[in-house]
Formats: sequence, C-alpha cells, structure tokens
Amino acid sequence: MTTTSGGPTWLEAVPPSRAAEAAAALFAEHWEGAADGVWSAPGRVNLIGEHLDYNGGPVLPLALPHSTVAAVRTRTDGVLRVVSSADLGGEASVWQGHLSEVGPGAPEGWPAYVAGVLWALREAGHDVGGLDAAVVSTVPLGAGLSSSAALECVVALAVADLAALGETSADAFRAELAAACVRAENEVARASTGGMDQAASLRCTAEHALLLDSATGAVTQVPLPLAEHGRALLVMDTRAPHRHSGGEYGSRRAASERAAQLLGHGLLAQAVDEAGGTAAGAEAVLSRLRTAAAQAGEGAERVEELVRRTRHVLTETARVHQVVSLLTAAAEGSCVGLSGVGAVACIDDVGPVLSASHASMRDDYEISCPELDVVCSAAEAAGALGARMTGGGFGGSAVALVRAGTEQAVAAAVRAAALEAGHPEPAFLRALASPGARRLR
Ligand code: ADP
Ligand code: MG
Repeated sequence: MTTTSGGPTWLEAVPPSRAAEAAAALFAEHWEGAADGVWSAPGRVNLIGEHLDYNGGPVLPLALPHSTVAAVRTRTDGVLRVVSSADLGGEASVWQGHLSEVGPGAPEGWPAYVAGVLWALREAGHDVGGLDAAVVSTVPLGAGLSSSAALECVVALAVADLAALGETSADAFRAELAAACVRAENEVARASTGGMDQAASLRCTAEHALLLDSATGAVTQVPLPLAEHGRALLVMDTRAPHRHSGGEYGSRRAASERAAQLLGHGLLAQAVDEAGGTAAGAEAVLSRLRTAAAQAGEGAERVEELVRRTRHVLTETARVHQVVSLLTAAAEGSCVGLSGVGAVACIDDVGPVLSASHASMRDDYEISCPELDVVCSAAEAAGALGARMTGGGFGGSAVALVRAGTEQAVAAAVRAAALEAGHPEPAFLRALASPGARRLR
C-alpha cells in the first residue's frame, strides 16, 4: 500500500489479516474452490554485513513488516497454477505449468521463484506434487528488500506445512527450507544469491535481528530494543534502475574467491580469522595478499582492487560484531558507549558504524551509486544517527538509524535531496523488526 500527502511516499505494510483476506479473495477469483490455508513470508533489510554471506562471514538482517502472502492448495497431479497481483511490468501475472517442465533455467521470469521451490524440495528428497496459489505482496520488487526470497519462502513454508514435510516451527527445518529456496533462486531462476535473504525470511523473529554465520548456518537472535529507547530504522528505496547489478555481483564474488585463493584460504572469512580482530592483523593479511597477488602475476591495478575488496570483508566483519555487541549491551542495560552511558548511548553508537559501512561499500567494495550516496548523506544531514546502503548495491535501498518521531522530516529531506540531484523520487518504509515466515490461517 502506498501513501503520500504531497510529501514523501511511504510504502506501508498492511495488517496480516487484511493481506490474508486479499490473497484468499484472489485465489477464489482465479482457482475454483478455496485454498487450504494462507501463509506469509517477510522481506528483509540487512542492518549490516554486506556481501559477506558468500564469503562465509556474519550478516545481520531483520524481517520487515512488509510481506508476501500466499493462499495455497496442494495438488497431486504435478500441475502448478499461480497468480500474482504484483505489477510485473507487462509480464503476465498468471502462470500455469507442470512440475515435469521445471528445472535449471525453466520456467523463465517470475514463475521460476515459485516453481523452482517445488523442484528444489523434490531434489531434496521430498514428495511434493503440484499446487494452486494466489500471491499478494507489500514487498517492493527489485528494491533490494528481498521480494524474491519472500516469494520463495512463502511457497516453501506453505508446501512444507500442507505436505507435512517436517517440523515447520523448528529453526533447523527452516534452515533446510531456506537451502531449497536458495537452490530455486540460483538454479531455476538463475539469479545469484548468497543465502542471507532466505535465512532472514524464514528464521527471523520479531523485535530481533538475525545474526547468521554464513559459513555454518548457525543463527543467534540479537535483540533490537529500538522503540523503547526512542529510536527507529528507516528504509529508503532509491527506486534507481539497477545498473549491471548481475555482472557486478558476479565480479565481486569472483574477486573475493580469487583473494581467498591467493591467501590460501577456502573463504575470505578465514582471512578474517587470520587477522585476529586487530587492525595490525588486518594490515598483515592485506600485505600478504599484495605479495601473493603480485607473485601470481596479477597486474598492479588488479592487486589493489583485490586488496580493497578484501579490506571491505575484513572491516565489515568487524563492524557486524561491533553492532551486535552494542545492541546486546543496550538490551542488557549494561552499556558504556562513546556517546555516553546507558542503552540509548549504545544504540546511538551503532549509527557511525553504519556510516563507516557505507563508506567501505562505496570506496573499497565499490557497490554503491550516486542515488545511494545521496540518500545516505541527506539522511545524516537531516539528523539520522547513521545510514548505509543495504543489499546487493548499484541501486536498491539504504537503511538509516533515526530518532523516533523524525522519520517524516528525514524522509522529506532525503526526498528533496534526491530530486535536487535529478534522481528518481525515493520511497520510504518503516522497518519494525517483524516475525519470520508463518501461517496466517
Ligand atoms: P529483490 O529480491 O531485491 O526484490 P530480485 O531481483 O531478487 O529483487 O527479485 C525480484 C523478482 O522476483 C521480480 O522481478 C519477480 O520476478 C520476482 N517476484 C518477487 N515478488 C514477486 C511477487 N509478489 N509476484 C511475482 N513475482 C515476484
Ligand atoms: Mg532478491
């Protein structure tokens, strides 16, 4: 749902009961009879830890109140019928097919995110037939807030519940479902994804961020005590067209893999261990990388590029741990922060860490763009405690930590700055840490 009042455009979440009603009505309109139930899976915003998932590092997403909701009925004949109310830019929003036609690269377009999940569940040994589904969503598509994972995860959870594939309330089983969703996206939709989005949509809990160790899949629920301390998270969707995001994502992954290889590690997370959490340790790793890359015949420019990419992974990992410590201390009320004593001081100390993360993504990992830089600096100029781009980069969204009650003023200033720069008008979302995927009815 979109609201404007002459000022900033807000993308509002809708109450789950209303979304469930809409999905059930869409189902009844397209597929005779009623659905067996209605499920919801959230989009996510990553608070910090960007491009670390495929490097085996820690990430810290939270589930948004904005969700994808599906009314679903399973079938036993392998037929798949899906309708989505999403505006898919002229693509048909009704799709019918058969499980036997689903596999790597097929079907194409948005149905891959639905059909791919059934294929991946079968590949994982589960006995699933077809389905009828009707999908509504308040997660903006392509805004870096994981509408793709929300769609996969709502389908996975619905099918798992209906076909009794496992204990859907157990985190361990949800991790299995997330893995199937990752396969669906990587292999059927042929979109690179590292695994954070699906874990967030399925494994987040309300009022917490999810600390995910991407190497092991282990998760820790990190309290996010913002509202009670007068703080809030504001998501700013730049609505910038994604520029060559696919190729750039691939080249960042390739650079990370190359750097890890030159250092003799499987993943860059092991270079983080090697650095031992100190600035001197990080410098030692980077200088070893310089030497190894030069010896391997990499040109001078490539050597420096690999060093910058690796530096982002090292410093970003440290920032994730810093934010987790600050939030944990704030929740325990045991905080002595740079900006004072007490929970609020600790939360406010998260702000500069977010801003440092943005600088690292802009300068070292080079995944930002003018639209993202403008919204982050405008938010800070308007009083935000810190802001950073979030998600894959090259467009999409940014997240700002703000004082509660200033959201409208910050959004107005960000909107004005974006328009002044000749960029598209951004849209805004309130990021209340919400529950992970669940059955609504
Ligand atoms: P993001 O996940 O950041 O929103 P992606 O490019 O990964 O961006 O995924 C967006 C794509 O996912 C859409 O272009 C569409 O193919 C598919 N998608 C997501 N949500 C829906 C939906 N509700 N209905 C149909 N397709 C959807
Ligand atoms: Mg996505």
